[in-house]
Amino acid sequence: MTTPGAALSGGGASPPQEARLNRQREPLPTDVASLPALPAGYAHALDGALRALGIQLGSEARTAIDGHVRLLLAWNAAINLTAITDPAEVARRHVADSLSALEVIRSGAHATILDIGSGGGFPGLPLAAALADSRVLLVDATAKKVAFLDAARRATGLAGRVDVAAARAESIGLRGPRGGWDVVTARAVGSLADLVELAMPVLGPGGRLVAWKRGDIAVELEAARRAAAALGSGEPEILPVAGSVDLPGHVLVIVRKVAATPAGFPRDPAVRRRRPW
Ligand code: SAH
Repeated sequence: MTTPGAALSGGGASPPQEARLNRQREPLPTDVASLPALPAGYAHALDGALRALGIQLGSEARTAIDGHVRLLLAWNAAINLTAITDPAEVARRHVADSLSALEVIRSGAHATILDIGSGGGFPGLPLAAALADSRVLLVDATAKKVAFLDAARRATGLAGRVDVAAARAESIGLRGPRGGWDVVTARAVGSLADLVELAMPVLGPGGRLVAWKRGDIAVELEAARRAAAALGSGEPEILPVAGSVDLPGHVLVIVRKVAATPAGFPRDPAVRRRRPW
């Protein structure tokens, strides 16, 4: 795997620029202890948001989550992982938003979780930290993001239960655990219909897709209903997020697999674009 630092190097630079590029070529940090501590505003924001969501985290989970955020902020200066750079906002809009699904995921089978399009690790890493009885696979199509996810799972002590894969979600079906995944999560990735099409083939019987959405999803939901009917899933269920003081308009959409998925799904992305639901 190429290191993300190396990917930033360029040729033919003038001396001052070269000096800058040489600095960027230094490997990105992999050890949380070497990074600056998070400001008090982060802990304050996260404590408040978790209280609003009714979530209590053990100290091990909290340490892992904070470590992920520290690494994210450090790497974000070199590779674009998130547009949110204020630690308090990362706490509210990334960490708390990820954990808003904790109770619903806990309420059913969750031994294996597949997070599609993890990006900077949301929602997969905070969920993995909080769900000590889950194995989690973080998948992203972008190699640089997967390099970050790999560093983050190691730095947070979650490597024993968290794996990463550089792949398009369409190709994950073959690698699913026997019988299929218990839960597929996805935040800020694809339309609901696309997610139903990607998730149903890899879920086990009774498994659930949990999708993070916000705003008006009426049109998206119509298409997702058509996809769900064709792919062997039940009616999508909409759960408003309890901590909506911090996360206005956020909903979780839960789609349960209730029947076998017909062969031929997911369709190729080009076919999906030509023939949307
Ligand atoms: N889930 C994260 C990142 C969202 S950005 C968050 O909520 O913050 C969307 C991410 O999905 C990007 O990192 C992109 O590389 C990835 N992605 C998009 N389509 C994908 C696909 N078909 N398979 C795997 N990853 C995909």
